[in-house]
Amino acid sequence: MALLWGVLSLLAPMTAQAGVRDGFSRADYEAHVAALRERIPNDFVIVVEPPFVVVGNGGAKAVRRSAEHTVRWAVERLGRDFFDRAPKVLLTIWLLSDRASYELWARRLTGEAPDTPYGFYTRRHKALVMNIATGGGTLVHEIVHPFVEANLPGCPAWLNEGLGSLFEQSSERDGHIVGLTNWRLEGLQDALRKKSVPTLRALVATDDDTFYGRDSGRNYAQARYLLYWLQERGLLQRFWRGYGRTRGEDPSGWSALVATVGKSALPELDRAFRAFVLALAFE
Ligand SMILES: [Zn+2]
Repeated sequence: MALLWGVLSLLAPMTAQAGVRDGFSRADYEAHVAALRERIPNDFVIVVEPPFVVVGNGGAKAVRRSAEHTVRWAVERLGRDFFDRAPKVLLTIWLLSDRASYELWARRLTGEAPDTPYGFYTRRHKALVMNIATGGGTLVHEIVHPFVEANLPGCPAWLNEGLGSLFEQSSERDGHIVGLTNWRLEGLQDALRKKSVPTLRALVATDDDTFYGRDSGRNYAQARYLLYWLQERGLLQRFWRGYGRTRGEDPSGWSALVATVGKSALPELDRAFRAFVLALAFE
């Protein structure tokens, strides 16, 4: 039978992790878990990990480990540095242990085959659906999206995906989450060498349809490494807080970026970014 680990631990404080305000009551979680149980096979395990409910078919130990070491780890650190508010809707994180069950449940939950082998967030279906066999990186990436929605409505795709992608390969430095170089680097370096990367000004001005369009892979990588660059210069927090203050006037993020790096840096901005990225390595 499904083990309700989390329901027992609901007796623990119901607030979400430090730094994030979670508006859900114990009754909300209990109702969500009860409704979920009606839909899942007996071998699926449910863990309440505020502000999410995690369900998986990889066995109690593995599901609990992902809930604590990936979901809780990321929520605590993202709350510490980036977000005050938890998602407004109680979302389910589905951890499917292999490709077959991932595809089956993705289809069951959304009515469509998934367009990625790793995992995705679907606001419409109130779910993060993961092929957890591919690792926890995508899970951290997707967790960023509902937090961005709750805290920065109207955030452009470049910034939303840049932050998600930054933390899809992440670690901890002095208690803070930091992105590391990853597989997206090589393609970006190639494109920079071929001079086929738009300016940062153009990236930031990209509308969502264009961002997710033909050059989406390059756009994700450029956005990720722009934020990585700010992070490594100790400027990401300043940029993020500046964006929170100025997004009313300039939702694109350009004003916040200019205020962060300084106007005097603008003429050399793309050249400096290029040099920085080309000097990076990913083993
Ligand atoms: Zn994403």
